[in-house]
Formats: sequence, structure tokens, C-alpha cells
Amino acid sequence: MAKQLPTQFDPVALCRRTEGGAAAFEGEIEIDHFQRLAAALSESAGPVSVQLRFKRLESGRPAAQGSLKANLPLTCQRCLQTCWTDIEVSFNCCFASSEAVAERMPEDLDVLMMDEKGKVSLSDLFEDELLLACPIFPKHEEGGCAGEIATRLGELTVSEEESPEESEAPTRKAFAGLGQLLDQNKQKPDDSH
Ligand SMILES: [Zn+2]
Repeated sequence: MAKQLPTQFDPVALCRRTEGGAAAFEGEIEIDHFQRLAAALSESAGPVSVQLRFKRLESGRPAAQGSLKANLPLTCQRCLQTCWTDIEVSFNCCFASSEAVAERMPEDLDVLMMDEKGKVSLSDLFEDELLLACPIFPKHEEGGCAGEIATRLGELTVSEEESPEESEAPTRKAFAGLGQLLDQNKQKPDDSH
């Protein structure tokens, strides 16, 4: 079973740890930790897979990069049935303890705010990213909606009814040939008399 990740991180402490080697996490977070995301799903989902590596920026600021993956049951906007959708998010962020610090961060990094104890919670860190990665109008792939599958199954049933006749014809002939052979064999002993 994949490792469950802690629900809160202390980025400063984790970055201090990276000086002796990278502080990296790989594991899973139960979907229930993301309340807003869980509320948007059409049924219960498996956990979110997370890879997370802490590092220090040149300025000494704590930062992290990683990725999140999940297979989420969204509601198809064409047929309103569940549409399992793969979501993947890569992130490259740094952590700030105040708005003033956040304003001085490099512009190419997302800035995440730490709470007054210097911690970030997993849902703060990941939930918005996951919500943004979900399609606004989730839908099945072309031809994959509930009604369309039923139509295609109907077509398949029709073609299955046709195909056995085609494939049976040679089989019948083969047996017919066998029957003739058997008849010949039966007749042979009679011929010897
Ligand atoms: Zn659909």
C-alpha cells in the first residue's frame, strides 16, 4: 500500500533537512482531505498520488516542486453519467510567511502562504491546483456517452447476429465432408462382401 502523507508540512524545517539530502515525499492523500474537491465528485474516488520535493531558492527561501495525479469521477455534461477523468498537476512553488515577503518572490513561482506557525496544510497546498486542473465541462470521449454506448451495443448485437451465419457456413461444409467420408468408410466393408 502506498504511504499516506502527513496532512501538514513545515517547509522551513524540511528545507533545512535538504542540506543533508533532499527532503522528498512520495505517497497518497485520501480524497476526503480535499473537501471542496470531494464535493464536486459524482461518487467516491481513490486517493490522490503525490510527489513532492523540497528545496531552497538561491535567496534561501523555502520552495517545493512536484506533481499530483488523480483519477476523478466527474459528471459528464452531455449524458450526466460519471466520467472518470485523469487529472495531473505539476507545481513549482515557494513559501512565504507574509504578504510583504510574497511580493518579493520570483514571478515565475507560485507563492503559497504559511500559517502563523510556519506550516502549510496539504489541502491549502494542493486543492486549488486540483480544482483548476479539472475540466470546466467534463465529458466522455466522442461516442463514449451512456446513450451512444447503448446505440453502439445495439449495432454490435445486429452484426453479431449476422456474423455467425457467415462463419457457420464453412463449418457445416467441413462436417458435411466428414459425413461423406464416414459414409464411404461404412460402405467399404459392405463392398468386400
Ligand atoms: Zn457522457
